[in-house]
Amino acid sequence: MSKRTKPSKRPFWQSTPCPKWCCGLHHEDAEVEARTHLSNWEAGVTMSLYSAEPYMGEDLSRDAYPLEILVNLEQGYREAAPTISLEPEGGLKEERPSSLNMTVDEAERIARALLKAVKLARG
Ligand SMILES: [Zn+2]
Repeated sequence: MSKRTKPSKRPFWQSTPCPKWCCGLHHEDAEVEARTHLSNWEAGVTMSLYSAEPYMGEDLSRDAYPLEILVNLEQGYREAAPTISLEPEGGLKEERPSSLNMTVDEAERIARALLKAVKLARG
């Protein structure tokens, strides 16, 4: 009689547990390029030196989407270590900069977010 193991909640393509920092939202039918551990933590730093995209949604409390830099962690399911991602979101797409200028306060917030991401990545 073979020893029964507890059924895994992992998708068939995931042979090892998620890193501690992963949100754990994986699906059996995820395409290969979408088989990525994503952090359950994210920091967003709003960039005040760029134009905002007008907001057309139903939330009356806002009228624009300013450029925001999102800091988070990701790791492909076959990769040995995570990478830290800086992702621009919002702002006018046609004015999205190829390099970023920021205030000293914004740079400090990004630096703090990067340090937190490094701490999470190293466990
Ligand atoms: Zn995961």
